[in-house]
Amino acid sequence: MALVVQKFGGSSVKDVERLQNVARIVKGEYDKGNQVVVVVSAMGKTTDSLVALSKQITETPSEREMDMLMSTGEQVSIALLAMTLHSIGVDAVSFTGQQVGILTDESHTKARIVKINCERLFKALKENKVVIVAGFQGIDVNENITTLGRGGSDTTAVAIAAAAKADICDIYTDVDGVYTTDPRIVPEAKKLDVITYDEMLELASAGAKVMHSRSIEFAKKYGVIVQVRSSYEPSVIGTFIQEEGGNNMEEPIIRGVTAYKNEAKVSVLGVPDSPGIAAKLFTALAEANINVDMIIQNVSVHGSTDISFTVSKEDLKKSIKVSENILTPLGAKGLTYDENVAKVSIVGVGMKSHSGVAAKMFGVLSEKLINIQMISTSEIKISVVIDINKADEAVKALHEKFGLGE
Ligand code: ADP
Ligand code: ASP
Ligand code: MG
Repeated sequence: MALVVQKFGGSSVKDVERLQNVARIVKGEYDKGNQVVVVVSAMGKTTDSLVALSKQITETPSEREMDMLMSTGEQVSIALLAMTLHSIGVDAVSFTGQQVGILTDESHTKARIVKINCERLFKALKENKVVIVAGFQGIDVNENITTLGRGGSDTTAVAIAAAAKADICDIYTDVDGVYTTDPRIVPEAKKLDVITYDEMLELASAGAKVMHSRSIEFAKKYGVIVQVRSSYEPSVIGTFIQEEGGNNMEEPIIRGVTAYKNEAKVSVLGVPDSPGIAAKLFTALAEANINVDMIIQNVSVHGSTDISFTVSKEDLKKSIKVSENILTPLGAKGLTYDENVAKVSIVGVGMKSHSGVAAKMFGVLSEKLINIQMISTSEIKISVVIDINKADEAVKALHEKFGLGE
């Protein structure tokens, strides 16, 4: 008997018909004699609608109340899925994040899971029930509801798979696997049979929406085998996310390309070029629960310098406020921001052993007359910040020049 965790995203549960489809997939696994834990997202675009509702009231809602609001979406789908399973004769029980013991830190709207107490889940499985868990949500030490960041149901699923020592975590979505780039933007994108944890982690944090990046951190840390597959074609084998070097894995130089359009760039101008300034600024941003992505500091001229950094668009207003509070008293000359930027990244483990990859990337962008505003690299990733209107063109050109569609 295997323990299988299945996760179904928003589009896979968007209406009653799709819920019935999910129930059939769950029943198929349950009828094999396996124990099944199902994690579900909110139906369709529910979370977007809830966010839009809050925006009608205020641009800067309390993050605690945002979590209270957004977590309701998943509660609807777990109850409906349980009823759907009951209607086809499968004993199932639904739990919220709190009920299934998902403890997180206190960072509202982007909380991290710190512990999962699986007692209640195991008890229900022992009673031969299918366990349905609300994705994306947890509870902090003060019993406040938290959410894990947009797309966070993947993380709920993988974290539960890790905590319950599941045999596999199947992520059912609206594509049949992980592709070399978003197949909705580049039709030539190729489906990958396998991808390493590190590559998927880089692609996900660089914006490939197909997996929530934190879920891959869990998968890697606890060795959870993850398969990304389609809820529309459940018989098709998806993409396996696994350790490097497994199963005669081929190691191309570049595994994938991705664009992230939800970033904004903030530049603080003319700050004193003296020790402690960057520390003050980025400590204040961290204390305000803002994740900073890329940072560059210009060469100083006459003792002052400019610092630019990127944050998610949701955090832009807060970032401006925090930066101004810190820097105005220090005599900074001004602050500018740009929401029309995107981050384009290429990822591949093969980069470790090949030179000239960055040069080739920059060459492709220059051919297309695309200006690079910021650059950052890791061992297996190169990212650039460019004009958002050029992002799709850049992804297509890079996908082609690195031969990913072949
Ligand atoms: P779900 O609602 O199931 O969580 P998401 O919308 O979060 O699904 O993620 C699936 C989407 O991710 C796909 O529809 C696809 O457009 C997008 N995507 C982006 N990059 C990739 C990629 N490299 N491979 C596959 N899908 C990708
Ligand atoms: N419903 C949440 C969202 O739309 C979580 C998820 O779908 O994974 O972001
Ligand atoms: Mg998702």
